[in-house]
Order: sequence, then C-alpha cells, then structure tokens
Amino acid sequence: MSDIKIPLSEPCIGGNEWRYIKDCLDSGWVSSVGKYVDKFEDQLAAYVGTKYAVACVNGTAALHISLLISGVGLHDEVLVPTLTFIAPVNTIKYVGAEPVFMDCDDYLNIDVGKVEQFIKNECVFKKGQLINKRSKRSVKAIIPVHIFGSPVDMNALIGLAKKYNLTIIEDATESLGSFFVNGKFKNKMTGAVGQIGCFSFNGNKIITTGGGGMLVTNDPQLAKKARYLTTQAKDSAIKYIHNEIGYNYRLTNVQAAMGVAQLERLSAYIKIKRKNFKLYEQMLGEIDGLQMINEPDYASSNFWFYSLIIDAKIYGKTNFELMKALNNHGIQARPLWYLNHKQKPYKKNQSYKIEKAEKYYNQVLNLPCSINLSEKDIKRVVGVIQKYAKKQ
Ligand SMILES: *Cc1c(COP(=O)(O)O)cnc(C)c1O
Repeated sequence: MSDIKIPLSEPCIGGNEWRYIKDCLDSGWVSSVGKYVDKFEDQLAAYVGTKYAVACVNGTAALHISLLISGVGLHDEVLVPTLTFIAPVNTIKYVGAEPVFMDCDDYLNIDVGKVEQFIKNECVFKKGQLINKRSKRSVKAIIPVHIFGSPVDMNALIGLAKKYNLTIIEDATESLGSFFVNGKFKNKMTGAVGQIGCFSFNGNKIITTGGGGMLVTNDPQLAKKARYLTTQAKDSAIKYIHNEIGYNYRLTNVQAAMGVAQLERLSAYIKIKRKNFKLYEQMLGEIDGLQMINEPDYASSNFWFYSLIIDAKIYGKTNFELMKALNNHGIQARPLWYLNHKQKPYKKNQSYKIEKAEKYYNQVLNLPCSINLSEKDIKRVVGVIQKYAKKQ
C-alpha cells in the first residue's frame, strides 16, 4: 500500500485551541477541576438544548454511566443495532446486561419498524415491564445510534419507548449538530430527545478533544447521579466517604479547553461537511451503480461520514475491491463495521431478522470526509472511482 495522501478523517485544529490550552497550563488548572470543564458543559448543553451536560473521559464512559443511572443491570436486556461501532454494545455488558441485536434501515440506522415487530411478536408487556418471551429477561432500554450523523427516526421510537416503559439512551457520538426538521421533535438536536444523550470527542469525530465525551439530559436527578458516579462517588470529599462504587470518568480541564475552542467552529464545520457531501453526490451520481446515502426527509444531518452504496453488478467492483483500489492511489476509505451479532463475544446473543445490515455491509464504502478536504481532493477521489467503473 502506498502512503496515504488523502486520509479518511483527520481533525481540524485551527481556532483557539492553543490559546485556551496555554491558559490551562499557565494557570496550573490541568486536571479535572477548572473553568473550561464547566464552560464546555454549559456551552454544549446550550448548543444541544438540554438542561444539563456532564463531561466524561470519552463517549464510551458516557454510555456506561447512562446505563448505570438508568437502572439497567444484571440480566436485563437492551435493544441495540448490530450495525454500529461496538462501544455501545460493550457498555451493555459492562453493567451485566445483554444486548439484543436489531437490523438497520436504508439510512443505516436501527430499523424502528422491526423494533416494533420485535416488541409485539417476541415480548409480552406485564405489570409495566417488557419481557422477552424467549429469554424471560426484562427489556429495559434501547440505544439508538445516529449512524454517521444521520438521525434515527425518533418520532416512532419514542412512542414505542413510552408505551412499553423503555429508557432511550441516544448514542449521538457521531451526530453532534444533527437535528430534526419535522414531526414532534422539529428543531430538536439529536441527543436531546431521549432521556439521555451521549457524545464523543474522539480524534475522528466532528469536533475533538483528543479523547472526551459528554452525557446530556433534562432530568436533574439523572444529571446529579451522573456527576456523582463520574467523580468517584464522593459523599464527603474531606472524610473520603463513598456510599456507592464510583468511577474516575471526568474530563480534564486541558481537554475541555480544546473542546471549547472546537465548539466555536462546529457550525462552520457542519457547513463544510454538508457542502462536500453535495459535491460527492453530484459527481458520483453520474457513475452507474453508485449512490451516496443522503439524509432522511425528517432530519438535517451533520454528514460526519460520507457513505457510498455500490451495486457491484453495475459498477464492476465491490466495496472491498474499490477500497483496495483507492488505497493504492493513496486514498483512505473504509467499509462498515463488522456486524456486532457476528463478533466473537456476541455470537450467542439474540438477533432479530438481520437482513439489510448484511446487505449494506457488503455494499457500503465510506469516503474521505475531513473538514480540510479541498475540492481538488474530492475530484481526485471521484476520478479514481470513475477510473474503475465498468461502463465509461
Ligand atoms: C466513537 C463512538 C463511540 C465511542 O466514543 P469514544 O469517545 O471513542 O469512547 C460510541 N459509539 C459510536 C457509534 C461511536 O462512533
């Protein structure tokens, strides 16, 4: 493989990051107490439109804490898409619960219609509890993941959750800045619709703090509990009294300083992401057998990632073959995640009618999507894709 000249996704650091981090270093406030942690929480809550935000060391920690404070525990079940980065699935096991894997829709998001089918056909609702008939376990929560920034159909999902007493923990780690344009949640941001929402500021996300995460909610009790558990569950900081098992999950001031600077640029980043999506869509739309996955009609996506669907019979190459060809030209592209219901730790867990996820796994390729991508870069990527098309 030749050197990568156009990476899949690299961070864009061009604002006040140096200045704010220097401020932390100059002031000595480098650890998990400091004005930037508070500022980052306040500003993120304001941006997302929730009352509270609790900064965490990463998105995975935010998801873990979300399950704990929702009361999901030993032998409970949580519905989760098979098509997702594995982190939310692992957090279900961290609390001793079991994932039940769901299929995806044409936006690669959890198929809400099938979730409804699963609940109606495979579960019984007794005394306010949803019981899985096969496992006899209690289904407590759903973790919808807004895949690649594209919002899940929350209108339908929230209705189900209310009816069957399920907690919704939104994995909005990839969708900061995405929002709904119609329906009950018109103008609401992803992450602000369920009981709890989780964000990640890992290096490849739309904004980054190197590593970092945030839990958001409108519920003061949940926020308080999250803050308590992420800071070692201190009941008396002076006497070191701990009445629960806590975690060292709080974000540091240095990382939060970077987050504050990145957040200042977020709106500009989303504009660029959306503009570049349109460019790809226009140019690739002219090649037979290729189609970019657009946003659903009920939402506006941050277009964190750009997903191309390849019909190999028409185009002439599969997603995996095109990935190799692009790599040989110094262009990094990636397939979807290997489906979680087939991963070694989860093979024995229940999955429900997985069909589309299998299909898209063999058809989708993610294309370079960095904020720094130039029009010339995009033309180069498209040029290589064009070169390998069967019909010229
Ligand atoms: C990135 C990501 C996470 C985890 O975030 P980290 O900050 O890396 O722990 C969780 N879920 C999804 C879907 C992600 O893409």
